[in-house]
Amino acid sequence: MLFFKDLDLKGKREFLRVDFNVPLDDKINITDDTRIKAVLPTLNFLLEQKARIIIGSHLGRPKGKKDPQFSLYPVSKKLSQLIPHRITLAPDCIGKEVDLLKQKQGSEEVILLENLRFHPEEKQNDDSFAQELAKGADYYVNDAFAACHRAHASIVAITRFVKKAAAGFLVRQEMDYFSRIIEAPQRPYIAILGGAKVSDKIPVLANLILKANAVLIGGAMSYTFFKAMGFKVGKSLVEEEKQELSLELLKKAGEKGVRIFLPSDHIIAREIKPCIEFQTLTRFPIPEDYMALDIGPETVKKYSEFIKNAKTIFWNGPMGVFEIDEFSHGTAGIAKSVAASDSLSIVGGGDSVAAIKKTGMEKNISHISTGGGASLELIANETLPGIEALSEK
Ligand code: AMP
Repeated sequence: MLFFKDLDLKGKREFLRVDFNVPLDDKINITDDTRIKAVLPTLNFLLEQKARIIIGSHLGRPKGKKDPQFSLYPVSKKLSQLIPHRITLAPDCIGKEVDLLKQKQGSEEVILLENLRFHPEEKQNDDSFAQELAKGADYYVNDAFAACHRAHASIVAITRFVKKAAAGFLVRQEMDYFSRIIEAPQRPYIAILGGAKVSDKIPVLANLILKANAVLIGGAMSYTFFKAMGFKVGKSLVEEEKQELSLELLKKAGEKGVRIFLPSDHIIAREIKPCIEFQTLTRFPIPEDYMALDIGPETVKKYSEFIKNAKTIFWNGPMGVFEIDEFSHGTAGIAKSVAASDSLSIVGGGDSVAAIKKTGMEKNISHISTGGGASLELIANETLPGIEALSEK
């Protein structure tokens, strides 16, 4: 995989793919600009080289048609506060008007294309759309790690229509860390998986069974496992159709000698809402009108012991409904233990990252990934379509 710094960038035209898929509030204000700031090292380096930059990104899910709600306008405003150059927001990402803008682009001007997903061809990885996107660009730089698991036109097909395609700082840094886990993890290697759905985490679990020493499971996904094993889980969130698969995974892990741990105590309540009465339960059954919403203190203690002794940690997904104070202690406890460990620690996924940030100890984490879905897919498949496209070029 080429690194963009190794290219002769002086005066060249670059198509820079970024992930500016920032969260917006009701009034379309950006509530967290981390993703914009994450690309600044690459952007600034390109600007220092006097490269002419055309930036492409998606934002939200506009379903393949123009929708002002998903315009990159707020991003263009934010970006113009962060870099001294003029930012021109193009009316679209392809077409005559955009071509004209590219032709007239000044040396101190950065063109930000309008949302790539306003066209259905983006998600279809369509060649002619990709060719249009690449029009006028000498090189392609991918700094959108969080989108690298998508085989979309601006991530994969576009690399066929430029002279060279390379990784930016962010993609390179992410891959450097993940390679250390994938290729030769220092042991013990502990994976912590949480969140709502088992289905999202099945491929990653299947890989971890081969690679990790232990997997610590929390969050709602635990109850699909418990129910499959015949425990009464009350109203807890369960993916009924994934029960058989959960049992198969447990069996496979047993055969490989990998230990999969499930919570030994549970915080239960009747409803998912703040200020509701809750209890700590140390044994099944969970009463019929209750649901488990967090791991209990005993589980935090037990999991923390594993975390303390680990040399490599990968964490994705919250241990409970961390958005509500009463059910946030499990996730916070795990976040503190991961932050306190001396291991190589990689945390991915918005919720786990938010939990780490809440502890104020994020500097202790070796690497906070900018891609939740991408990091899961990378651990599961050991590569990503976007990375493959760069490597093949
Ligand atoms: P995911 O996107 O699969 O990582 O799931 C994240 C979501 O899972 C968060 O919004 C949590 O509130 C939710 N979650 C975690 N644990 C539970 C639980 N025990 N019951 C219901 N939802 C949960």
